[in-house]
Amino acid sequence: MFFIMGIASKTDKLDFNQNVICPNCGRYGRYEAFMEYTSLSLFFIPVFKWGKKYYVKTSCCGSTYSINRELGRKIERNEDVTLEEQDLHIIRPGYDHRIKRCLNCGFETIEDYRYCPKCSTILE
Ligand SMILES: [Zn+2]
Ligand SMILES: [Zn+2]
Repeated sequence: MFFIMGIASKTDKLDFNQNVICPNCGRYGRYEAFMEYTSLSLFFIPVFKWGKKYYVKTSCCGSTYSINRELGRKIERNEDVTLEEQDLHIIRPGYDHRIKRCLNCGFETIEDYRYCPKCSTILE
């Protein structure tokens, strides 16, 4: 008997959306959840998944957080989950929220200017 087996590491986007004010950049964003796992397939059909890890990513700045398995499984099973800031463990922060960029001329600054020093456009 001849088997075709394959082992691959995969990432699935989970059906989860939560509107938040991002702890990293302070803007309105969404938490999106992802599951990473290793999958064994037999004749190209996944038969076994293990090593599941769960992640949350913010839509605003792309900060990546890990969440614990318990919460991850709930999200995977479509249970009602509300993530709190203390549930998230930062893996990779998004871009530095202190950088302000002028929408008019593209001037970038980390200073707390209210107005662009180049063209006087109000900075967000
Ligand atoms: Zn953000
Ligand atoms: Zn400007």
